[in-house]
Amino acid sequence: MLDKLKKYFGYDEFKPLQKEVIDHVMSGREGLVLMPTGGGKSLCYQLPALEMAGITIVVSPLIALMKDQVDALRANGIPAAYINSSLDYAEIAKVERAAQSGEIKLLYLAPERLAIPRVQEFLVSLKVSLFAVDEAHCISEWGHDFRPDYRNLRAVRELFPCAPVLALTATANKRVKEDILDQLKLRDAKVFQSSFDRPNLSYRVMPKKQVLQKLVRFLQNDPNQSAIIYCLSRKRTEKMAADLKANGINAAFYHAGMEADRRSRVQEAFIKDKVSVICATIAFGMGIDKPDVRLVAHVDMPKSVEGYYQETGRAGRDGLPSKCILFFSKGDMFKHEYFIRMMDSALEQTRARKQLQDVVEYGELKNCRRSYLLEYFGEEYSKNNCGGCDVCVPVVAEKTFSAGAEVESFDEELFEILRGLRREIAEGRGVPPYVIFGDKSLQQMALYYPQSEESMGQIFGVGKEKLAQYGEEFLTYIKAYCEDKDLQENMPQFVESRTIFKTAVSSTVMMSVDLFNKKKSLDEVANLRGLKPLSVLEHLEKALDSGVNVDASHLTFNEDRLIAIVEAFKTSGGYLLSPVKEKLGDDFGYDELRLARLIIKSQITNDK
Ligand code: ADP
Ligand code: ZN
Repeated sequence: MLDKLKKYFGYDEFKPLQKEVIDHVMSGREGLVLMPTGGGKSLCYQLPALEMAGITIVVSPLIALMKDQVDALRANGIPAAYINSSLDYAEIAKVERAAQSGEIKLLYLAPERLAIPRVQEFLVSLKVSLFAVDEAHCISEWGHDFRPDYRNLRAVRELFPCAPVLALTATANKRVKEDILDQLKLRDAKVFQSSFDRPNLSYRVMPKKQVLQKLVRFLQNDPNQSAIIYCLSRKRTEKMAADLKANGINAAFYHAGMEADRRSRVQEAFIKDKVSVICATIAFGMGIDKPDVRLVAHVDMPKSVEGYYQETGRAGRDGLPSKCILFFSKGDMFKHEYFIRMMDSALEQTRARKQLQDVVEYGELKNCRRSYLLEYFGEEYSKNNCGGCDVCVPVVAEKTFSAGAEVESFDEELFEILRGLRREIAEGRGVPPYVIFGDKSLQQMALYYPQSEESMGQIFGVGKEKLAQYGEEFLTYIKAYCEDKDLQENMPQFVESRTIFKTAVSSTVMMSVDLFNKKKSLDEVANLRGLKPLSVLEHLEKALDSGVNVDASHLTFNEDRLIAIVEAFKTSGGYLLSPVKEKLGDDFGYDELRLARLIIKSQITNDK
């Protein structure tokens, strides 16, 4: 499975729960997947779709996104297609024939089509291995986005008693969750719920003063980064966009009062990186899959914490560090009061006021904002310092926030060049730039300067198809740049060529070692590589076990505790954790023991 993951998607590792869901689906069982935005839900049905004999039908309400999703799959060499109202009769017939002849592995369908008898006949003529129901909360009246068309799924279910259903949503609401299970009549469904924490997002609240100046400062740091500025009123979106433009920022506005045509033009310009900043009401966002939004700022108070979490969730889907800023003034409550008075029932009004009160509580917090958000959704957060909110890291927050820095020191000039190349290629193919390569892939290219196809193939997000399609073009630019600046390839060394080692260490392990040896912390390496800290730790241990030097001298550890752990390992006579844990008792956690083991191993290897 990992080979397939690299080959088709260019990734080295699964995100939390992906593997579990995939195994479950592959065994023909039904499930409900609850993951936050950016959690990697699509892969949960895309990878099984490639492995299973028949076709996978994906039901999705986001017609505007279908083309982008299918383009992204095709860019990875995966045969996919969609049928919705944007296609004419002849185009639909063509897709249908391709599906019937088995040329397509994934077919995206809008839910309203399921009610059409002819479409049902067509579906019955296929060998369907799986129904994936995306945005599954749309089936529930309790959700924020009920779509009556989703009820058509129940009839379709009866036509396919054998094909399993996998429902997916980013809504963690308990009532909605139960409603989905019930409405879709899922059979013995297993519920997969991952944490709703978004570790790459940092949360900050700033007083609502000199908002324009502050925004301009953030945005000027990296004029090409994508940002969404949420405003309460339509008028304010227009004014904000005009003010930003007057300050040289490439901004546009978006609200429901605009003509549909104009709205989709603005949206498209944003997706295609032609406009960097969108000033919008909350009408903007649902149809946006853009993975590289680096800043979501609210310049007016949002109406609920739930809404705030959802809107900020649109930042940093690609896992790279991104910011969420709330410009807070308690006085904003009165702006909402106007809307609240227009509500029909007293009950609704009371509920709305309570929700606002919660937002005020968030704005005035004296403790971790992340833990507040997670606990709001019933999730416990155990760390006492989240490392990414202005309460937990006031000083660092000041620095990160104002410099707009990325974490790693990749070559920004080359990154800009590659961004330009990406935009050009995307333009030529009529697809959004992120379909070609994500920011993270370009950043790694601008860090390692790959000079050969083989090296290029090791970069994050570069799978087999993308290597074949775009590898050469990007290599040409990178090589020319390196020649010009007299730079060498900087890929982590491949251990295979060092014959002294018994076990070959893979390049993904070496990338982790390389960063760690540059004195980065485990969390930093994990962040840069898009891996879990535990996986990085495993990489480092694997490298050590193969005799590769790992320099752990920058890890801080309480000396007394380390001595106690070293003693315990010595008496246990091996490197197994459980005997040591048993000896030391509850006062020592597994994470700490693992970290200590890394330090011990690294000293022993370095001494050799
Ligand atoms: P969701 O639908 O849950 O919001 P997506 O399926 O759009 O999330 O995935 C979010 C981002 O994470 C996408 O850019 C996707 O390509 C990327 N992604 C998915 N799985 C992995 C993985 N295993 N490793 C690295 N990136 C991944
Ligand atoms: Zn915090």
